[in-house]
Amino acid sequence: MRTLILTIIFLFSLTKIFGQTQEPKLKISHFTGDFYIYTTYNTYEGSQIPANGMYLLTNSGVVLFDTPWDTTQFQPLLDSIKLKHNKNVTICIATHWHSDRTEGLEYYKRQGIKTYTTKLTDELSKKNDKKRAEYLMEKDTVFSIGQHTFETYYPGQGHTEDNIVIWFEKEKVLYGGCLIKGAEAENLGFLETEM
Ligand SMILES: [Zn+2]
Repeated sequence: MRTLILTIIFLFSLTKIFGQTQEPKLKISHFTGDFYIYTTYNTYEGSQIPANGMYLLTNSGVVLFDTPWDTTQFQPLLDSIKLKHNKNVTICIATHWHSDRTEGLEYYKRQGIKTYTTKLTDELSKKNDKKRAEYLMEKDTVFSIGQHTFETYYPGQGHTEDNIVIWFEKEKVLYGGCLIKGAEAENLGFLETEM
């Protein structure tokens, strides 16, 4: 029997971080295969809140999913990836219009990174005065980058009316964005289920 690993990544944990001055501003952890999770922090309603994004190593550069929330960590994330993997980020895809997903889009565009959101995300970003991507996806889109293929999927309104998820068929990884947080307990954090 083949083991299917379904992974759900919670991007916006409500866990409060204590001792925040000792916390690093940027954390990177290996997830599986070519997948890595990065975490930055911001203050929300008086608490230090982590926001997770992901990146994928390919032999045509690194694909960044969402951007750091902490504006001081846009370049440190690129530098850390370069140092760790000797690869450059070439594409960045943000999964909905909130700042913890989109804040770095314009910075990354200026660094020559191809930035993407859906057209709907762009409309909401514009309306809410958030950073916007250079390239807009009109519908669910398949990306083939280096040896990896993945597709964006709009499941309908959830966390926000524009949220998309990203599915990696070969690896059975679902990058769920804030959508897959739901009404579950606050601190599920990171779920790995074998079926
Ligand atoms: Zn959000």
